[in-house]
Amino acid sequence: MNTQTLLDYDREHLWHPYTSMADPLPVYPVESATGVRIRLMDGRELIDGMASWWSAIHGYSHPILIQALQEQAARMSHVMFGGLTHRPAVELARLLVELTPAALDKVFLCDSGSVAVEVAMKMAIQYHYAAGHPKRCRFLTIRSGYHGDTCHAMSVCDPVAGMHQIFAGILPRYFFADRPECLFTQEWDDRDIDSFRQLIEQHHRELCAVILEPIVQGAGGMHFYHPEYLRQVRLLCDTFGVLLIVDEIATGFGRSGALFGCDHAGITPDIMCLGKALTGGTMTLAAVMATSEVAMGISRAAPGVFMHGPTFMGNPLACHVACASIRLLLESDWQQQVSRIEHLLEQGLAPCREMAQVQDVRVLGAIGVVEMKVPVRMKEIQAAFVERGVWVRPFGRLVYVMPPYCISALDLNILTAAIVEVVAGEGQP
Ligand SMILES: *Cc1c(COP(=O)(O)O)cnc(C)c1O
Repeated sequence: MNTQTLLDYDREHLWHPYTSMADPLPVYPVESATGVRIRLMDGRELIDGMASWWSAIHGYSHPILIQALQEQAARMSHVMFGGLTHRPAVELARLLVELTPAALDKVFLCDSGSVAVEVAMKMAIQYHYAAGHPKRCRFLTIRSGYHGDTCHAMSVCDPVAGMHQIFAGILPRYFFADRPECLFTQEWDDRDIDSFRQLIEQHHRELCAVILEPIVQGAGGMHFYHPEYLRQVRLLCDTFGVLLIVDEIATGFGRSGALFGCDHAGITPDIMCLGKALTGGTMTLAAVMATSEVAMGISRAAPGVFMHGPTFMGNPLACHVACASIRLLLESDWQQQVSRIEHLLEQGLAPCREMAQVQDVRVLGAIGVVEMKVPVRMKEIQAAFVERGVWVRPFGRLVYVMPPYCISALDLNILTAAIVEVVAGEGQP
């Protein structure tokens, strides 16, 4: 199949994320990817600014991850997890229990981020059910959040930016506190927690859990909020006996400058969702960490078991490559790499601050965001980045990057220079 035939077939038959089947925007065919380079089928190479949506933290085709995949594929790619267990799952559990806050010591392995969110929410419901409070089955979250595309996950995504309107007929209605306004770098203002406090005070009798992204709100708007907000949320959850679920699917594994978003606030959630970078971008896998209190609570009453168990639970191939990726991360000087990227992003994106079409520029860890005043012209802007030899995939008003941690200063400068140029070329509001 030549490239054009392939693209034609793709256009005719394949759905891409959030893309029209009737009038899809062009897609770029990829031949291979190594390090921070994505090679297109026409031979062009793009410097990767996206880490394939937070996941490829070590870059592509890392020899250690390839080796881990090959070793495990030769032993066994998969066996069912009902009634069986294996070294990759146990070793991964051990690594995760060690790395995450001390109280999180029970691990549920599942397929993807959205599924992890479903699992976490079901855990919270079942915990209160087992405690004799079946009516405590609703959730409180904050606006501008994103937790995935499955139904329960959608129900706690931002109600305006999310899909609430389309799926209004089936989505449960939950509670949304105002988005935290105090930024990561600003002085804390106690009023920031007011909206959240009011809602939890008013509704705690029907709440089983709070769910939110710690510090970094990702796909819902790329906001970085104050760690004190998270500490206050933890305190209020404790006061009212509401569980706290943190969705670390985007923030996990160093992206924001701390190993986990929670670490900025020094809090321990009751349940934590991990995904995306868990396998270093090799394949899909997610984990839900829970405290013993949650796990034992669920088993306190009939049915006594947690009601979830996917076919590919604990997939050995994914677990083994996750272990390799985590070890690779821990053996690297990731903190220094991330703070070096933070510094270069600050410097490189600074010229955008002066532009009339730019609303805000913000950087945290290895995440750089240029927020425009109006939505970008997707097709044109995408092509403009590819022409400049970089891979940046904006959405809405956001032009943002989260490159692999191993990106060189030279590549990062090319990336930020391309953003400055392309953003300058976007229409004035
Ligand atoms: C990406 C993401 C999800 C969903 O993960 P999938 O693997 O795409 O299902 C959930 N929560 C957050 C914070 C995410 O960034």
